Amino acid sequence: MSEKKKKENRCSFCGTPENQVKLFYGDNNAFVCENCITNGQKLLEDQQKERETKSLPSLDIKKPIEIKTFLDQYVIGQDDAKRSLAVAVYNHFKRITYKKQDELNDVEIEKSNIIMVGATGTGKTLMARTIAKMLNVPFCIADATILTEAGYVGEDVENILTRLLQASDYNITAAERGIVFIDEIDKIARKSDNPSLTRDVSGEGVQQALLKLLEGALVNVPPQGGRKHPDQKMIQINTKNILFIAGGAFDGIEARIASRLNTNTIGFVNQHAEDLDKENLIKYAAPQDLKSFGLIPEIVGRFPVVTSLNTLDKAALRRILVEPKDALVKQYTKLLEIDNIKLIFDDDALDFVVNKALEFKTGARGLRSILEAIMTDAMFELPSDKTISELHITADYANKQLSGKVLKQLKSA
Ligand code: ADP
Repeated sequence: MSEKKKKENRCSFCGTPENQVKLFYGDNNAFVCENCITNGQKLLEDQQKERETKSLPSLDIKKPIEIKTFLDQYVIGQDDAKRSLAVAVYNHFKRITYKKQDELNDVEIEKSNIIMVGATGTGKTLMARTIAKMLNVPFCIADATILTEAGYVGEDVENILTRLLQASDYNITAAERGIVFIDEIDKIARKSDNPSLTRDVSGEGVQQALLKLLEGALVNVPPQGGRKHPDQKMIQINTKNILFIAGGAFDGIEARIASRLNTNTIGFVNQHAEDLDKENLIKYAAPQDLKSFGLIPEIVGRFPVVTSLNTLDKAALRRILVEPKDALVKQYTKLLEIDNIKLIFDDDALDFVVNKALEFKTGARGLRSILEAIMTDAMFELPSDKTISELHITADYANKQLSGKVLKQLKSA
């Protein structure tokens, strides 16, 4: 660059010539002077202050019993999980408000992230979604199966926070006290006991990355999601006050629980083998079982609350059909009511549906597809038939509707 041209360099922001300031930085065509750097720094500090003081919607804090009562309207059974979740959520609210009121007090209430262990279709996601309905903090659900280690096909763990940002309309302060539900956390368990055997792209690497979020750190989040790349503008989120709830089926964990309980008599659950509820070993799930399943100890340590969901029995499935606020039978009744048709479901027919769900081993998740198969013909024809004002579903009718091809499809669902 010639001497003459260098003298002509001006700050690209304020136009100050290079020779009038001590610090002048840039190359080719873009330059910045010390004044603009100082102003930029001040702007950043002001924004940070604004973030900290920005007014947030006031929190309507529900007590644990109120939270559980709310959950009861939508989720059948699972009392232990409901209670643990209610306490964890209540404590989360206390934590984020207490800090504001009493900053000088140095008692730090630790986060109680929670892990829910339970077979698929037992209500883990439903529980999380229901909690979200009653909360006035941002909430998002992230699926751990799509997460991979940085640099591999899939999503970076930071994208979880992108969802939270979106749920808070990009209000960073609100997002920083939100709740994240990580579904299928068991799918990122280490596949082998020897982590160095093979590259474990979706296992330990992801757990390490996730750990950063759980530990409470300043994390750079791509505002629109997607892969990180060098020129992307990032939003910094502090995860210190974000509550993480994780759920997973942990298929086969019962065997690990059983062997621990049989061999370990001085453990936390000190029960004689004959007193154990062998049909429902999952209720004894403890942190060490998650470790032996393949979650790294650091991750397990970040989820101090471990709770379990029972496999739904016949009685529970039966209740699920009719009791929750948005129970499936209530939904069909409403749909037909709009066409002035009264829906009557025989008790036998409901039992039939439940038995099929048990037979297909699809749990509560299967109830919907079974009902759908039973109802579709009627839902198709009746709205055009002015002569019919009542639909009576008997066990016989349900059985007929569910035969043949449909049955095969449902079995493989
Ligand atoms: P999971 O996350 O445990 O795999 P989900 O919460 O997604 O299971 O459950 C699937 C569906 O089954 C829910 O949308 C809901 O309709 C029904 N369901 C499951 N468990 C329950 C429950 N305990 N009470 C009411 N409905 C349930």
